[in-house]
Amino acid sequence: MLWTTSLCLLWASFVLGAPVRKERQKLLLVSFDGFRWDYDRDVDTPNLDQMAKDGVKAQYVTPPYLTITSPAHFTLLTGRYIENHGVIHNMWFNTTTSVKKPYYPTQFVNEWWDNGSLPIWITAQRQGLKAGSVHFPGTASSYQGQVVMNREVEPQLYNYKNETAWQENTDMVMGWFRDQDLDFVSLYFGEPDGVGHRFGPDSPERRDMVKQVDRTVGYIRQSAHRHGLTDRLNIILTADHGMSTVFRNGMVEEIILKKIPGFLFSDLSFHLVDYGPSGMLLPKPGKLEKVYQTLKGAHPHLHVYKKEEMPEHLHFANNDRILPIVLWADPGYVISGYFPVQFNQGEHGYDNLEMDMKPFFRAVGPAFHKNLEVGPFETVNIYPMMCHILGIQPEVNDGHLDATKHMLVTSVTSKGGNINFLKNAFTGLAAVAGFLAVVFIATISLKIIKRKRKNESFRSESFEDVQEKEETKQTSF
Ligand SMILES: [Zn+2]
Repeated sequence: MLWTTSLCLLWASFVLGAPVRKERQKLLLVSFDGFRWDYDRDVDTPNLDQMAKDGVKAQYVTPPYLTITSPAHFTLLTGRYIENHGVIHNMWFNTTTSVKKPYYPTQFVNEWWDNGSLPIWITAQRQGLKAGSVHFPGTASSYQGQVVMNREVEPQLYNYKNETAWQENTDMVMGWFRDQDLDFVSLYFGEPDGVGHRFGPDSPERRDMVKQVDRTVGYIRQSAHRHGLTDRLNIILTADHGMSTVFRNGMVEEIILKKIPGFLFSDLSFHLVDYGPSGMLLPKPGKLEKVYQTLKGAHPHLHVYKKEEMPEHLHFANNDRILPIVLWADPGYVISGYFPVQFNQGEHGYDNLEMDMKPFFRAVGPAFHKNLEVGPFETVNIYPMMCHILGIQPEVNDGHLDATKHMLVTSVTSKGGNINFLKNAFTGLAAVAGFLAVVFIATISLKIIKRKRKNESFRSESFEDVQEKEETKQTSF
């Protein structure tokens, strides 16, 4: 009897204590640079459409300001606004020496990236997971002495358009998931940003590139299937920013700082302009007010702000790397220094409230609802959702799971695997009910036996036989 009860207790505590664990889900974060939220509206995109049916589509997402590549990608990886993660520009610069490095060399300036915020790869690795990254901005750097375990940094002068290379990279990543059991990989494609800049977002070249992206989305999903990953792999597609047409051919009055009456470059210690529609200025000591007053209101499409007066929604002020005066132009315009040197048909870097700056968002996999279209959310919220899916503890970040959890089907523990809470609760209740039933029957049986023993005292020698019989019954109950 006692033995039976102990066994039941052990069984009940085992069932109650052990969560119903499934295999940990995997996650692939894909960025198609500069894929604006509405690029699927004027192009036939069967694979993106199928993905929306099989998963979740957001109307659009809002990127962080400054809406340029490295800062916005680092927000995806950290869940922090740009002023908080510190990768405030594509270009590393030194205001003392006036040295500036373009996008590609800046990928290798470790201290530019490793300045306090940890990308999700490192956090995942610290918590026992395996991570990888292909060409994603930030991949080349180390963070507090650690690099992403599996990584491919793009070579210099890389051909971003090569569709065969896109497929090879996709298969390599799927191989990592299957053969090396990686949990998280970020995968970057440099288009349709390139054609958007060169030919403009309304060009046939951009539409052709969106078709290539769509074929690649189909290829990514096929490759996941071929590698036997469909049931375990979640795929998120998004981008860093959108694209806007630049007004050309003398249609508008261009913004050229040199031409603004009273403005002198000699009043500046350092400047970062000729970079699309944004700029930053460091006036010489005592010149800040003069420079500010000269530029403020000088052009109807030029916004001029002192760093400390920046609009709140941009979250682009609270960092020592941001210079004292911040400039940006309205869509259609770029900011030139001495004379026009920018000839792109399309640009980004505008206010993140502009619809042209909004990227797309799609997600598919076991963590996501099917055939669900959701409203917009900020891309800082993608990070906590990714941590949630992976079952890792996020770092301090500016996102909230509340902004995205309606897209998810399951709850995830803070560490290790998914738990279906309803199923677990039901199993627990069933175990308690079973245990109580066993106790009840055992008690009743014991009473019956005691009564028998009283009434049939003359057959006392057979009591143990009866008890054994009852216990056998209980055990098999
Ligand atoms: Zn970009």
